[in-house]
Amino acid sequence: MPLDAALAGALHIEYLRQQDVAISDHPHHALFQTSTIDALLDGRYDGDVTFAELGKRGDLGLGTVDALDGEMILLDSRFYQVRSDGRAYEIEGRTKTPFAVVTFFEPNLIQPLPNPMDFAGLCSHLDALAPDAATLYAVRVDAFFEHVRTRSVPRQRKPYPPLSEVVRNQPTFDLHDVRGSLVGFRFPIKTQGLNVAGYHFHFITEDRNAGGHVLGCCLSSGEIRIDHEVDLGLELPAGVELPMPGTPGREGEIDRIEREG
Ligand SMILES: [Zn+2]
Repeated sequence: MPLDAALAGALHIEYLRQQDVAISDHPHHALFQTSTIDALLDGRYDGDVTFAELGKRGDLGLGTVDALDGEMILLDSRFYQVRSDGRAYEIEGRTKTPFAVVTFFEPNLIQPLPNPMDFAGLCSHLDALAPDAATLYAVRVDAFFEHVRTRSVPRQRKPYPPLSEVVRNQPTFDLHDVRGSLVGFRFPIKTQGLNVAGYHFHFITEDRNAGGHVLGCCLSSGEIRIDHEVDLGLELPAGVELPMPGTPGREGEIDRIEREG
């Protein structure tokens, strides 16, 4: 069954051409994504959409930068890249991204963090707040973190190696006792290949100096905000196709790349 059909009912997909990305009427509860996680796994790191264009599609999100130059986080309409030195740098509008997902964040649910929790505890708590597993949603958690472990990726040169090779020597960073924000998404299991099924978070400190792709965390107080998404605008670079769901072997590959330190 094609991915479109698997998602029917849960999410409405609109296909966009690259030249139409910047033409947007500020959609509500709609995600925009360029390319797919499968294409990124395969080493397609050439940027297709500029950050100026991406900014017309959202004020919160995550992704990466042309040539896989670090982890991208979009927060309060500002794009940051966390390079392989663990530091966060603002991104210029003319820079391109090979993979990103963004939304104009309009939370349907705002709740204080009920008690201190680790990353697994946070994911279970979010599941309880949004029990419909077929729903796609965006999450922002502003909190005090006793610990956050992040990673980034170094800029790549052609011929690009697959992502599994790049992350073999990924730099990781341990931040202690910092205020900051988690920004991320939960994609339904059926969308594996399009994006990372389950949770995917990027982190940035409150002073916007450091962050990365989240491998683990322990947070003690803060606020959770959830935005349920109903539409997906999808732009596929030339040669990138929508994956078939449940393609054998790739769930494990994504788990190794996105979840372990
Ligand atoms: Zn990431």
